[in-house]
Amino acid sequence: EHLDRIAEVDGDLNAFLALDAEGALATARDVDARRAAGETLHPLAGVPIAVKDVVATEGIATTAGSKILEGWVPPYDAFLTRRLRAAGLPILGKTNMDEFAMGSSTEHSAYGPTRNPWDRDRIPGGSGGGSAAAVGAYEAPLAIGTDTGGSIRQPAAVTGTVGVKPTYGGVSRYGLIAMASSLDQAGPVTRTVLDAALLHELIGGHDPLDSTSIDAPVPPVVEAARRADVSGMRIGIVTELNGEGYQPGVRARFDEAVALLTKAGAEIVEVSCPSFAYALSTYYLVMPAEASSNLARFDAMRYGLRVAPAGVPSPSAEQVMSATREAGFGDEVKRRIIIGTYALSSGYYDAYYGSAQKVRTLIARDFEAAFGSVDVLISPTSPTTAFPLGSKLDDPMSMYLQDVATIPANLAGIPGLSLPVGVTDEDGLPVGLQVLAPAMADDRLYNVGAALE
Ligand code: GLN
Repeated sequence: EHLDRIAEVDGDLNAFLALDAEGALATARDVDARRAAGETLHPLAGVPIAVKDVVATEGIATTAGSKILEGWVPPYDAFLTRRLRAAGLPILGKTNMDEFAMGSSTEHSAYGPTRNPWDRDRIPGGSGGGSAAAVGAYEAPLAIGTDTGGSIRQPAAVTGTVGVKPTYGGVSRYGLIAMASSLDQAGPVTRTVLDAALLHELIGGHDPLDSTSIDAPVPPVVEAARRADVSGMRIGIVTELNGEGYQPGVRARFDEAVALLTKAGAEIVEVSCPSFAYALSTYYLVMPAEASSNLARFDAMRYGLRVAPAGVPSPSAEQVMSATREAGFGDEVKRRIIIGTYALSSGYYDAYYGSAQKVRTLIARDFEAAFGSVDVLISPTSPTTAFPLGSKLDDPMSMYLQDVATIPANLAGIPGLSLPVGVTDEDGLPVGLQVLAPAMADDRLYNVGAALE
């Protein structure tokens, strides 16, 4: 049924870059047979899933939304792909994304933008717009996203879906095509909070192949999603993430949700996190610096595309590398490689990268101070609803501003969840509310999220 739905709507939505209909059906049949034979299977066995194209899937083309990886078929599965397969979730295919996860609209994909199922002339968020649109359009009940600065939560917010960025290190990064290694984290995109918890529990946990993977059990997320009780909880509203620049309808739905939480017995307090004012500038130094280093591996020798420089009879390796990177990377990727290499270059390192790392610590300290007096923090996930396709393409700064509320969590490594809290009066488009919790207290996100659902 999901494959039929994809055939019906995806020509227009472009949520998928690759499909694996045969593989998905084979898994589904295998699950049916095992169930019929009386085997006890994972609760999500047989539930189809869409996977962001930045996750390695053995035998299924993986491009990270880039021309430079066109035609690359991974010879191995990411940790989380292995988990999905082992639990019997049919993998429907790979979802569209901004190239190398750089963007907030999926318009920076080398394979054309994804459209928002709520209004096909609008963006589905990014970078994981394909996963969010697939879930929002009923093409898939579950999806996997990755979140470096908001790429799970912001797309979820603008498509009316649930998205969770687990604690950094909570889900193994083994087999994810790296953007910024100290910020990247994979997580669920779903229609309900409980679905997200079941998927989170399945893909979470220790993996010795990722040196930053946390060696501790997955927090009790499923139990928390079932509990859905906020009585006696202290919930902080972040002053800096709820003021100017937020669309009136976004604030209206947020205020209603706050009233609901109060009614359910939570105590609401205002919390100030003054260093958040610098989060965006910090992120846009740390992230490009790490990305410029990670993307150095696309050297025309190891993967995908190789371009011969025109008019050079016997080109050097360096000339081939240069021609390939020129042809294979899009403008946004090039922009960030240039910013990143500049920030890391000798003479500028201390002024830019070094300073950004110090501010990063201040942001983490703001969170620590806040969590000294509250259990969770909340804010709108994104300052606006889905914007029209093309409207921010010529203005990178206004695109970057989409992430003001989501980026602090990545810089501090803490978990965040976005869930739908209704549509605005002015444009009828979905609004997301974000819940943030201390590292390894991911269960609190689900408790609050489920209470609001
Ligand atoms: N939109 C942000 C960026 O462009 C976040 C991307 C992400 O989380 N992968 O960097």
